[in-house]
Amino acid sequence: MTLVHNWQLGRRMEYPYFESRPKHQFAAIFNTNRCIACQTCTMACKSTWTFNKGQEYMWWNNVETKPYGGYPQSWDVKTLKLIDSPDNTWYTDGKDAKTASYGTGAPYGTYEGDTIFETAKRKNLNQWAVGYIPEDKEWRAPNFGEDTARSSNQPGEYSSLPEHSRWFFYIQRICNHCTYPGCLAACPRKAIYKRKEDGIVLIDQKRCRGYRKCVEQCPYKKPMYRGLTRVTEKCIACYPRIEGRDPLTEGRPMETRCMSACVGQIRLQGFLDDNPKNPVTWLIRHHKVALPLYPQFGTEPNVYYIPPRWAPRAYLRQMFGPGADEAIEKFMVPSRELLAVMSLFRMTQTIVFEYKIEQGPKVFETEIHGKKFTMYNDTVIGYGDDGKEVVRTTVEEPVHIRPDKHYNSI
Ligand code: SF4
Ligand code: SF4
Repeated sequence: MTLVHNWQLGRRMEYPYFESRPKHQFAAIFNTNRCIACQTCTMACKSTWTFNKGQEYMWWNNVETKPYGGYPQSWDVKTLKLIDSPDNTWYTDGKDAKTASYGTGAPYGTYEGDTIFETAKRKNLNQWAVGYIPEDKEWRAPNFGEDTARSSNQPGEYSSLPEHSRWFFYIQRICNHCTYPGCLAACPRKAIYKRKEDGIVLIDQKRCRGYRKCVEQCPYKKPMYRGLTRVTEKCIACYPRIEGRDPLTEGRPMETRCMSACVGQIRLQGFLDDNPKNPVTWLIRHHKVALPLYPQFGTEPNVYYIPPRWAPRAYLRQMFGPGADEAIEKFMVPSRELLAVMSLFRMTQTIVFEYKIEQGPKVFETEIHGKKFTMYNDTVIGYGDDGKEVVRTTVEEPVHIRPDKHYNSI
């Protein structure tokens, strides 16, 4: 084991390989507040990559309902139990998440529990990370528990509108293309690698012998074994599109299929880098409104979530770390810049590397949860990897009036 820095945990941690970060890390942000669980993303992925024999149960992108849903069933509950820190032990300097400020070194405080790697070492297990292989029956139903709510009410009681105590939310899941992947650490064949140029994690199909160590030690359960070919497969981040090989974007990096299909416009894909005016970098590292999923596992996942504002905070803190309160507060009463940057979600299939905001007029003012909120109709402009403008949009959605004569007019 070596010592590597995990910024999500605010500390160094043990990992079998040295720290090595790509210049641009594949990353995505999902806004759980807007997902309608239409599963268009799921089908876009399925029809592109996993429609063959032996891949029937593979859903590289899935959308599950929390708290009861999960694919494979109970994947997160089982993994949380393995690391002995189900209550999520974070040291936040005696301050609550609202007042704590740790700069970028330890943005959410310091995680004091053991990660999946440290637990395996402490317990002297003969493996790099704690994990388990799901039973066949746990893969049987990707939508198990869909739209099932939880509440403090007793069975048989009914909630009343407009406010009630029942809750659930949707969580969208793909491979996190982790900075410290459990799958990569686990593979005895060294068949899994993380690309230097963009941090995408791939399985070399020729080297893989189907030992299923990656299936066991990925805490998110995203590598999937194909019995027919006896090798394991996983999300490849649509790398031909990321490489700009789709003619549509004229050689510029393009979003993955699941991102660009999103009906709810909840997704933004990009690359995490050092540029504070990169939209994903700003939302994740600077504004801290998008959070990693179960950071306590220790893999430094690179898919981030804006938490749902209506779910119990203790549940959300366990799922997204102690930054959940701050993130929800920022999302509910958005700053001028946040509103503008969020207007970029699903506006183009070309990946935006930098944004600029041109100020517009004030259009609205109100009070939300005792805080003043002012809305400006700013224009946000996105630039591609070559510095050329690829998208321009306003905070207020533009209205288009269709002319009397149009293509299908009669
Ligand atoms: S989510 Fe799992 S499969 Fe994907 S990179 Fe991380 S450990 Fe590997
Ligand atoms: S396409 Fe978008 S809105 Fe629909 S389920 Fe997927 S993430 Fe949610």
